[in-house]
Amino acid sequence: MSQDIKITWFDEFLGVAYRYFDIRMNIVLMFSERKPAANLWIETIKWWNDHTIKIRFVESGDDYWFVMAAESRKANTNMNFFKVLPKSENYERFKKGHDGSAFLRFGIYSKKGFDEVKKDQKCECEHEKEDHEKEDDNICMIEGCSCKKFESYQVILLKTIRELKKTVVDIKFMTEEEAKDDPLTWNCLNRHQYSEN
Ligand SMILES: [Zn+2]
Ligand SMILES: [Zn+2]
Repeated sequence: MSQDIKITWFDEFLGVAYRYFDIRMNIVLMFSERKPAANLWIETIKWWNDHTIKIRFVESGDDYWFVMAAESRKANTNMNFFKVLPKSENYERFKKGHDGSAFLRFGIYSKKGFDEVKKDQKCECEHEKEDHEKEDDNICMIEGCSCKKFESYQVILLKTIRELKKTVVDIKFMTEEEAKDDPLTWNCLNRHQYSEN
C-alpha cells in the first residue's frame, strides 16, 4: 500500500478510553458531542474494512502516540487518526491485556466532579471517592498512589439503530526507533512531531 501524502490526519477528539465492555477490550475514541461524532463515524469509519484497520502505539517518555488508519470503501472521505496522549493506568492495562484484538467504538465523554458522585465511585486511580481528601484537589490518600486529583468520567458509547463498532486485529506497540520501519506510523510522526506546541 502506498502512502498517500494528501491523506488527512485527524486529531480533534478528546482522547482514548480503554474499557472492557464485552469479551474483547474496547478502544473508544472520545468526543464531547454526540452529533459531530456520529457524523464522523458515518462518513469515515463506517466505510472501513475491518481487517485493514491498523492501530499503532508509539511510546515517548510519559506520553504515547495513538495512530489509526484503514483502507476505506469510500476513499474520498477517508482519514487517518492520531493523538499524543499521556500514558494512563487504563492504557497500561490495555497494553497488557488486549490479546491482539479489540473493538473500536466512539463514545461521548462526560466528566463527573468530586461533589457529583457517590462515595463508592471509583477514581481513575482505581480508588474510591472515600479514599480521597475532601478539600482542595481531592488527593488520593492510599499509600503509594500517585493520584493528585479525584477524577471520574463516564464514557457513553455511541449508538444509532445498531451498535457502532468495528473489530481491530492489527494492533502494535512500538518504540520511536521501531516506528521508522512502519510506513504509516513514520508518516504520522514525521508530519506532526515538530509541529506540536
Ligand atoms: Zn484518585
Ligand atoms: Zn488512588
